[in-house]
Amino acid sequence: MTIGDQISETLMVHRGMSYTDASRRAVELLDKTKIAEAAKRAKQYPFEFSGGMLQRAMIAQSLACNPSVLMADEPTTALDVTIQAQILELMAELQRTENMSIILITHDLAVVARMADQVAVMYAGQIVESGSVDDIFYRSSHPYTLGLKEAMPTNKRDGKKTLTPILGSPPDLFHPPTGCGYFARCPYAMAVCEHHQPAEHHLTGSDAEHQARCWLQHEGAPHIKALNQPGADQRD
Ligand code: SF4
Repeated sequence: MTIGDQISETLMVHRGMSYTDASRRAVELLDKTKIAEAAKRAKQYPFEFSGGMLQRAMIAQSLACNPSVLMADEPTTALDVTIQAQILELMAELQRTENMSIILITHDLAVVARMADQVAVMYAGQIVESGSVDDIFYRSSHPYTLGLKEAMPTNKRDGKKTLTPILGSPPDLFHPPTGCGYFARCPYAMAVCEHHQPAEHHLTGSDAEHQARCWLQHEGAPHIKALNQPGADQRD
């Protein structure tokens, strides 16, 4: 199917539009996502589009029914950094002009830092920490969030590249662990973590929205010094 027909189909099925009206609207939507010569491009096939253009066409299709929430799952994966920046800029602009929310699903913390207001960090099928983007990056609390930050490549001043991986593998969710899903990989794991699911804790001194699912936040847990510092592993 041509790009235009794929977008039109959405409009015909969900908006009951005629083929002619839907085709016209498809061109408008491609134009809105800044695809040059939209009328000509609407008649082309996906294999004639570059990766960035395909992503724009998908965004055009997802805007067709004026959603109040757009869910974008890894929208910039496999794009080079220049095109990635353009797609993110386009999404941010459309979010404002279309007055919609975006739920962005990504493994890329740089994209999160750039785009998000609220962040939910997931591990083994659960939200393990959630809060504002500042909470997650500057007041990280859950060991998995800390591990993700440590696993980002950085260029130190001495020119050395450092990256500390999270060792081990995620649990088998066909046989989910009885306790904390991060237990096998967590450098701060305690005996209680192995068989008891941690409750969600509201973090004091932070936004009311900042929460972490970890026994370290329990009042009886050992105090961990400088939890938010790279390599910290000392306990009182
Ligand atoms: S509950 Fe225990 S194992 Fe899970 S993240 Fe917290 S300290 Fe680590």
